[in-house]
Amino acid sequence: MAKCGVCGKKIDIIFLGKLLGTYIKDKKGKKHAVCFECQKKIPDKEDLLKKIK
Ligand SMILES: [Zn+2]
Repeated sequence: MAKCGVCGKKIDIIFLGKLLGTYIKDKKGKKHAVCFECQKKIPDKEDLLKKIK
């Protein structure tokens, strides 16, 4: 189960292992899951990365 790196909400997996959201990579190449709602709220990837704990 993936958790959103911004709001901490669980992200539902839809079919074929796809997330209802996205993965973004930070500068170290580490992947972070971000839910659809946070993605919609913060469309800019750099801003999203800043919000991830
Ligand atoms: Zn979220």
